[in-house]
Amino acid sequence: MSNNTNQTELLFTPGPLNTSTQVRQAMTRDIGSRSDECIALTQRIQSRLLEVAGANELFVPVLIQGSGTFAVEAMLTSLVPAQGKLLVVDNGIYAKRMAQIAAIHQLHFDCLSLTETESLCPEQLDRALTSDPTVTHVAVVHYETGLGVLNDLAQILVVCAKHDVKVLVDAMSSFAAIDIDFSAPALLCVAASANKCLHGVPGIGFVIARRQAIIEATTPRSLTLDLNGQWQSFEQTGQWRFTPPTHVLLALDQAIEAFLAQGGQSVRLAHYQKLNVRLNEGLNKLAVKPLIVATFRAPIINTFVMDASFDVEQMFLFLASAGIQIYPTKASQSNSFRIGCIGELCEADIDCLLHHIGLFITEAENG
Ligand SMILES: *Cc1c(COP(=O)(O)O)cnc(C)c1O
Repeated sequence: MSNNTNQTELLFTPGPLNTSTQVRQAMTRDIGSRSDECIALTQRIQSRLLEVAGANELFVPVLIQGSGTFAVEAMLTSLVPAQGKLLVVDNGIYAKRMAQIAAIHQLHFDCLSLTETESLCPEQLDRALTSDPTVTHVAVVHYETGLGVLNDLAQILVVCAKHDVKVLVDAMSSFAAIDIDFSAPALLCVAASANKCLHGVPGIGFVIARRQAIIEATTPRSLTLDLNGQWQSFEQTGQWRFTPPTHVLLALDQAIEAFLAQGGQSVRLAHYQKLNVRLNEGLNKLAVKPLIVATFRAPIINTFVMDASFDVEQMFLFLASAGIQIYPTKASQSNSFRIGCIGELCEADIDCLLHHIGLFITEAENG
């Protein structure tokens, strides 16, 4: 599956990630932002995003310039009404970022603070919603990329439906790999971006939202992040309100084309799974263990803990000098690091990573 030729860097980071040669080649021409081609390109991407999502006709996709956080901010500020009350389920750094957005825009909100190393327990959410019946909306991160923790979205949607509460989902690192049930009545909207499991380049985020909610979102809190305004423009003229990242669109179109041609979400997840098993088995042999228990993990990105005698900062440098990028952990977890399995990677790339981690350990042990 890997198509990642001519690449010098191996990125085990969760986006930007390694893209295919075809995706990079798609960006080697210029198109006009007001051209018929750009309009057709935008429309094709929008309709295919609905196809990737498996969303019904009650949902519309709204593209937004910027990285994923721009889409999350657009989602929260456009779709939580002034009279609504938001509950942010906080079990990681991306949830904390949503709370930060809510605070800056002075949304009426509360946080349900949970342990970062565990998935949200549906009963806990049920209790929180029972104890505060004024909550109208819940914001949750589907896959917490910070430590690699999967929240059970299906269960969350069931609990929220019971309380007649709408759910806004940050599905940045799960969209196009892990199932999201768009037929669930409580699901209001989902934010994701071009540069994670779709294997595009950074520069475009999107929100797939109920059309009715977009239509009703007529009191913007921001000009550039106003989903209603953005959608109106796409509906009325087919054009972006402000300069679109044209090359990013060309890349995303190619990335979605390949995604669908390869067999879609289940095929992509199976590939990640294969890489992730190889990764975990290889690291286990080196006595490097995953931080999160298997039931809460997904093969997108995992956190691993090293024996305290090793210096992970030194390991990042060692790997970087071999053209390999991995991420530190963002949370307080000491002597740990994260390895993503998304992007155009193959088993040989995992073996290359394992080989270099093995070399680092041997060198460190031999002083
Ligand atoms: C990547 C990601 C985002 C967006 O982060 P950016 O830095 O804006 O790309 C948001 N939420 C989650 C869960 C993510 O994985």
